[in-house]
Amino acid sequence: MSMLQDIQEVFYSQEDLAQIANRLGHQISHDYKDRNLLIVSVLKGSVIFMADLMRSITIPCKIDFITASSYHAGTESSGKVSVTDELSVKDVHGYDILIVEDILDTGRTLQKLSDIFNKKGAASVKICTLLDKPERRDPSVRIKPTYVGAEVRNEFVVGYGLDFDQKYRNLPFIGILKPEVYNTETQNEEESH
Ligand code: 5GP
Ligand code: MG
Repeated sequence: MSMLQDIQEVFYSQEDLAQIANRLGHQISHDYKDRNLLIVSVLKGSVIFMADLMRSITIPCKIDFITASSYHAGTESSGKVSVTDELSVKDVHGYDILIVEDILDTGRTLQKLSDIFNKKGAASVKICTLLDKPERRDPSVRIKPTYVGAEVRNEFVVGYGLDFDQKYRNLPFIGILKPEVYNTETQNEEESH
């Protein structure tokens, strides 16, 4: 059985996504020239975007990974954010941290991560998100993304790292599933992005 039969509509093709990663990679290379760039990918959702983005960055940089969870299975956020892994870079003093995320939704995850890195003394903390859903932002969230691949309307998208019930991350494009797929799958385990 192919995953493709669960797809309702493709929003961003492989070509669109390659262009986005390229555009942002070039902008970041320009903006962080002569800085001490540490790119932090938020697992798991941003991993494919991260792989493409980092190969479009032409300046020296370090990479790291962190795991944050807020989503329960399904399409609604639980509201609580937990950060389960630490960076392998223990002392972030002097680093210009760029957090790479798959999608900025309520913004609670990136608010929490930005607060953590700022408190630990990073030289700067900025955000690069592949997708942004500005309509969904929690009013208490203060962070603003510096780099945005594309804005999406308020629909639950999958593919290119983004999951539904941990599946569909391996689709090479971003799209939405047929309504019956969202409706039939229900589980309640906490998931990592
Ligand atoms: P926030 O803390 O901004 O509400 O949560 C962001 C996280 O929620 C994203 O990293 C992603 O894991 C998940 N998320 C938000 N919207 C979507 C969506 O449309 N599709 C998928 N697959 N995940 C989403
Ligand atoms: Mg995520």
